[in-house]
Amino acid sequence: MPPLPENSRQDVATALRDADMRLRATSDTARLDAEVLMAHALDTSRSRMLLHHMRDPAPDSFTALVERRLRHEPVAYITGAAEFYGLELAVSPAVLIPRGDSETLIEAAREAFATQPPASVLDLGTGSGALLIAALSLFPDACGLGLDRSQAALDIAARNAEQVHDRAELRCLDWTIEGWKQGLGQFDLILANPPYVEDDAALSPSVREFEPSGALFAGPDGLDDYRILLPQLPELLTVRGLALVEIGYRQANAVMALGDDQGLASQLHHDLAGRPRAIAFSRLLHR
Ligand code: GLN
Repeated sequence: MPPLPENSRQDVATALRDADMRLRATSDTARLDAEVLMAHALDTSRSRMLLHHMRDPAPDSFTALVERRLRHEPVAYITGAAEFYGLELAVSPAVLIPRGDSETLIEAAREAFATQPPASVLDLGTGSGALLIAALSLFPDACGLGLDRSQAALDIAARNAEQVHDRAELRCLDWTIEGWKQGLGQFDLILANPPYVEDDAALSPSVREFEPSGALFAGPDGLDDYRILLPQLPELLTVRGLALVEIGYRQANAVMALGDDQGLASQLHHDLAGRPRAIAFSRLLHR
């Protein structure tokens, strides 16, 4: 195809319309995806683009970004950024893309610690650091520790942790290795979004082919990591401490039963879609 003459080059508005149509084949959020990718190509924010740049010529780089999305690559990996609890976070394929569902844990923490904020926060499987950094921004006097077995994930978390200055420590630890929690101490607030997807679950290609399998899959019933972590919680929690654990929406009963086995009291929290999404565990006898 001969190149288009300069004056017939697409403007941003037209390119967005075209991309929206193309992306509908693979995305439920085609228009939004197109806008986020265009703003990225223009090196501006989505709102500034919508207000000021709709009649500008579309940048050449936009087409390649749309092609990547058509091949199911998540927008957040293409742009290297995702939003979580009002924070702009760096992401890479080494980390799970933070989900709105996980904000359920932060909201539950906000309510539970409304009168006396936690002094210490532990994030098990911190990934991008989303939960840890959101909690530390919510509780400005708290310090936190984020653990992950992936050093590549911790490199991303370290970039994001700059937003909470020197209040977040990050450490490479694997809870499947005996003795991992030695010397960690106790925490007022524990957050965990462990892998909990069943190995053979039907996932969209953008999740299964692009997100880190180590952050997703946890055995045939998705409960492997809860079986390891829940028995550790009583020792890791302070007397007034609370552990907020994300769950798959059909796992509430199974995970609460695992907590019960450890003498933990549990309370269920729902996501914005009204589905069970998090369980708050506390030390039964002392609370
Ligand atoms: N909520 C994620 C998903 O459904 C799974 C996250 C996890 O396993 N911790 O893709």
